[in-house]
Amino acid sequence: MEIDFLLIGQGLAGTALAYRLKQAGKKIRIIDEPGANNSSRVAAGLFNPVTGRKMVKTWRADALFPVIQPFYKELEALTRSGFLTEKAIYRPFLTIEEQNEWMGHSADPGFEYYLRKIHAESQSEFLKDPYGGVMLRNSGWLDINNLLDAMTAYFREELIVGNFDERSLSHENEVWSYRDLKAKAVVYCNGVEAMNSRFFSFLPFAPVKGEILEVRQEFTPDYIVNRGVFRVHLGNRIHRVGSTYTKHDMAVGATVAAKTEILEKLTDLVRLPVEEIISHRTGIRPATRDRKPFLGKHPSEVGVYIFNGFGAKGVSLIPYFSEQMATHLLKGKAIDSEVDIARYFNYI
Ligand SMILES: Cc1cc2nc3c(=O)[nH]c(=O)nc-3n(C[C@H](O)[C@H](O)[C@H](O)COP(=O)(O)OP(=O)(O)OC[C@H]3O[C@@H](n4cnc5c(N)ncnc54)[C@H](O)[C@@H]3O)c2cc1C
Repeated sequence: MEIDFLLIGQGLAGTALAYRLKQAGKKIRIIDEPGANNSSRVAAGLFNPVTGRKMVKTWRADALFPVIQPFYKELEALTRSGFLTEKAIYRPFLTIEEQNEWMGHSADPGFEYYLRKIHAESQSEFLKDPYGGVMLRNSGWLDINNLLDAMTAYFREELIVGNFDERSLSHENEVWSYRDLKAKAVVYCNGVEAMNSRFFSFLPFAPVKGEILEVRQEFTPDYIVNRGVFRVHLGNRIHRVGSTYTKHDMAVGATVAAKTEILEKLTDLVRLPVEEIISHRTGIRPATRDRKPFLGKHPSEVGVYIFNGFGAKGVSLIPYFSEQMATHLLKGKAIDSEVDIARYFNYI
């Protein structure tokens, strides 16, 4: 069978790119093995414009954030499903200096799109937020599992469920053959698995393991709380809480150390006991050394591409960069030099 694009992996990245290519009328196939590490299915799905210990506006927020909600709403309409929750994120201040600094941001037009309100006082008797905090808007969370399930159904003609074995991929006369498929181009959207590819293992991936809990606890505000850990109410007093960041342990299993860390950080945030731990899951984020995604064309192999490296922020990065990648594949438009893998080599 002759196709235009063979995509490897149907996590959030492969799904978004496949959707854009299919919309453009291209003939595609996607190979995905559900059992493989799938960071997307473990992720909390937050999109948060102010991140990190120092609470700074996230990289490229002004380009990324306006396209997040329209993109996921488009997929909701397409699949007649619901997976996007717009929700304010409340970030308590740790010091009075931080409060002052944010009071300054309230007049800054660069923050207007993201700022709902600055609170100088605690927002709840159950929260440890003596200096108040900042309530962010144009934020929320995506139920990535629901999105992937809905899109799997949408791709029923295009999806091949099973392991992609790179040894079976060969190239002849400008065409890539994989079993009975003949593709003009192959795009690697396979998360951390790309580190084992003969084409892309040279890229400086820096995978980060993450662990995440679901716990039962009282206090169900109508906002996400985020400082040290995030706490997202899923309904029924069940909260998703996480995540950890570990660079030195790539084993798949859950660890007691991570569970303890998350629970301690939750204690720093909320004054109530955890009644029950409902689940504890782990995944490996496809992060990169310079914390920028990997988009682009292989240095020497014609028709081999990568769309990967979304680290801890796939939900916010993928709507914008899938558009850029699709335009590159379809029209040859240049990729942003900050994310183009050509930052690591010169084309031969
Ligand atoms: C604990 C945790 C919390 C997170 N929280 C957030 C968050 O709140 N917000 C946010 O934006 N991001 C979060 N992330 C990061 C987010 O998961 C990633 O940025 C994003 O999902 C990466 O998507 P991807 O499609 O590139 O990779 P993946 O989701 O890993 O998808 C790769 C796909 O390739 C398939 N595959 C791999 N090898 C093969 C093979 N040989 N054959 C066939 N198929 C294969 C896999 O099955 C998988 O479906 C979190 C991650 C973790 C682990």
